[in-house]
Parts: sequence; structure tokens; C-alpha cells
Amino acid sequence: MTTTTCTTTRVRSLPVLLATEDDAEDMGLLAPDDRLTCHVHGRWIHQCVASPAHVSPVTRHRWCRGCRTELCVAVDELTRRVAMTCPRCGHGGSAATTRLTAACRASLAAERDARRAA
Ligand SMILES: [Zn+2]
Ligand SMILES: [Zn+2]
Repeated sequence: MTTTTCTTTRVRSLPVLLATEDDAEDMGLLAPDDRLTCHVHGRWIHQCVASPAHVSPVTRHRWCRGCRTELCVAVDELTRRVAMTCPRCGHGGSAATTRLTAACRASLAAERDARRAA
């Protein structure tokens, strides 16, 4: 459901993909939500998604509207599971968070591929 223009079978290292996604975003070819890298932190998105910079009550990224609370992030690099849940109600997902979670899973896979290719 998430179409990411930058997902190809070609393996790209973090700096390369970061620059590619910056360009694609500038050209309007890539939505910020679909990025596998973070231009704020210069890392894979799953590595910094727990940062407060990735919480947005407006867009509801990592935000439970009902509880007005930021969602907790659990990233398991081994099983590639990514979960974001509200510490108060245990739910709190939104479309934005679902998309962010999908991007984290994709970045986990991309990082693993990049590491294997290195
Ligand atoms: Zn970040
Ligand atoms: Zn909640």
C-alpha cells in the first residue's frame, strides 16, 4: 500500500540513500513519510524514530490523540518487528504512525542489505 519510489533491488549505503531520498523529496517524488532515512538525524529511520523529533501531535506521527501522549517505540532488529503503542491506552495508532512503522520495517531491511553487501 505504501509505494516508495526509492525501494529498488539495488543495495545502497546509508549516505547514498540519504542523499538520494533528499533529492527525491525535493523533487516531490518521495513523501517524507516514506523515507527510509532521516535527514534530521542522518540515520536510518528505525534508528532515530524514538527521538522526540519524530513525535508530531499535528500529523499524529507517534502520537495518541485520545491520551495526548507520545507512543512508545519498540524496534527489534533481529525479528524486524516495529511496534508503536500508547503507554496509557495500549493503542493510539493513526494512519501516520502506520506509515511510519512501515518505513521503519523497510529501513531495517535496507540496513541489513547494506550491511551484508558491505
Ligand atoms: Zn530522525
Ligand atoms: Zn492512548
